[in-house]
Amino acid sequence: MLRERIDQYYLDQHKDREQHHFYISDAGKCSRAIFFKFKNVPKKELEARILRLFEHGNYIHQLIMRPLLSMRDIHVVASEVKIPPQELISGRADVIISDGKDLYIVDIKSMNSMIFRGLEEPKEEHINQLQLYMHFLDPKKGILIYVSKDNQELKEFQLDYEPKRVKKLLAKLKNLKTKIEANIIPERLIDWPKNWQCKYCAFKEVCRMTGEGEIGWKDFQKKIVAHNKRYGKVISLRK
Ligand code: SF4
Repeated sequence: MLRERIDQYYLDQHKDREQHHFYISDAGKCSRAIFFKFKNVPKKELEARILRLFEHGNYIHQLIMRPLLSMRDIHVVASEVKIPPQELISGRADVIISDGKDLYIVDIKSMNSMIFRGLEEPKEEHINQLQLYMHFLDPKKGILIYVSKDNQELKEFQLDYEPKRVKKLLAKLKNLKTKIEANIIPERLIDWPKNWQCKYCAFKEVCRMTGEGEIGWKDFQKKIVAHNKRYGKVISLRK
């Protein structure tokens, strides 16, 4: 009686929203997948179970925030800190702390224990996000806290600001913005389909239909609409 309705609740909460600017979490990710998100290409539906796992990540944030707020020698300066509004990208850092001498941006990530156990260095995509927070917000020092979802173990990595990395990330996003506006689907990842992003990509099928190199969006979208019609789906894509 309840199971289906609970599942539906999570699926409804996660209906595709139109994207109009980049999120910090897009930095360093596959340009083609971001292009498809901007153009509202239908994604493979995420199961309600996976959506509940995402939501679980929010509770883990609270588990870390409570002890941070109770520390005497660490002061929580602000939490959920939005980067200053600008055209290209938006994002919200988890928390800024002070140890009385320096300020740090802290980003909290959770993962299953199997991935957690093998984690000796922070993940590239998380370094990229934290670097952008450091770029747009004042503290130029950052800490990544990893939480194992299954056994609650923690790992911590401190990072300094890397302007060269940030410059590259922003240049890549600006280049992608130009392609989105010019309706050019970017080329797929060089190590497709082995790249970890391809493994979890919600646009796998469309990407396969697109082929390897850059291609015009206008012609290709006719192909996607026809393909979905064949399966009884009517979709609306952004021009
Ligand atoms: S399948 Fe891989 S290359 Fe294709 S859009 Fe997804 S992440 Fe990018």
